[in-house]
Amino acid sequence: MPLMTTKPMFDLAYAGGFAVGAFNVNNMEITQGIIEACAAEKSPLILQISKGARKYAKMNYLTAIINAAVAEYPWLPIAIHLDHGDTVDLVDTCIKDGFTSVMIDGSHHPYDENVHVTAEAVKHAHAAGVTVEAELGMLGGIEEDVVGMDAHDYEANVEKFLTDPDQAKDFWQKTKCDSLAVAIGTSHGAFKFKHEAKLAFDRIEKIMKTCPGLPLVMHGSSSVPQEFIDLVNKYGGQMPNAKGVPEDQINMAVGKYGVCKVNIDTDLRLALTAKIREVFATKPAEFDPRNYLGPGREAIVSMVRRKLGPKVLNSANKSDAINAHWEKLGKPLPKFYGAK
Ligand SMILES: [Zn+2]
Repeated sequence: MPLMTTKPMFDLAYAGGFAVGAFNVNNMEITQGIIEACAAEKSPLILQISKGARKYAKMNYLTAIINAAVAEYPWLPIAIHLDHGDTVDLVDTCIKDGFTSVMIDGSHHPYDENVHVTAEAVKHAHAAGVTVEAELGMLGGIEEDVVGMDAHDYEANVEKFLTDPDQAKDFWQKTKCDSLAVAIGTSHGAFKFKHEAKLAFDRIEKIMKTCPGLPLVMHGSSSVPQEFIDLVNKYGGQMPNAKGVPEDQINMAVGKYGVCKVNIDTDLRLALTAKIREVFATKPAEFDPRNYLGPGREAIVSMVRRKLGPKVLNSANKSDAINAHWEKLGKPLPKFYGAK
């Protein structure tokens, strides 16, 4: 079963002109929507689970849902990843739960403490065959437990918070992380910017130069498409001034500058919510959950397929090559799976 670490994915994405989408999982419909889209596009994917998702759905349910997805599409390359792990204890728990990849986010700590906690997490994860994403620099916006700066303050002072290329090199050497989430002008949540988003492409380029071979990750990379905001607002929602990172800028960061992993959560929430609002508003007598969660799930399928295409992540039709590469690497599955 192609549950795998992120290594075979990033090996091919690094110079391959595509990035792997990382989509957050909270329940069955969201997972099914993501998986169906990736299967239809033959695209690798990272299913990521946050601390908040673990609390909301309980890990036993999420594990069962993910195992069902793997059983439905046994040929689909999937990595199971912890999003924004905040302690080494949580990393340990996720390794035991069978995650193939984890993030340790020490970016809110002083630099030396970030190095320390990341190096510790890497030691534990690598001993179990699990890959590690770390974070350096500061993102704006708010998402679940991850509170960055207020979007508008962040925007005004963004230069100060971007990842420093020389520090990134030092961090990578000291921690041995497998990939690095960088602050390059993206922001968490649906209200990312007051003005138009501008990614710091020169900064991505510099980090790629000081850290050759290190896969870079972009968080907070939903584009918050206006047509979905309009739908939400048309059917009783209140999301004025929501704004994301335009898809052509994501595409440029991926295709021209080599970003390997792009996190997309807000756009999935938006698609699901817009659709459910539409059903409630246009069919007020409807009370069968299948008749609003079903269309919501379809909206997620469309949103994810849109992201996988050549205009955003360009990861469609890459599944065979990644499976072949994983095969060549000798399928070094995390010890959790090896032990089963
Ligand atoms: Zn994030």
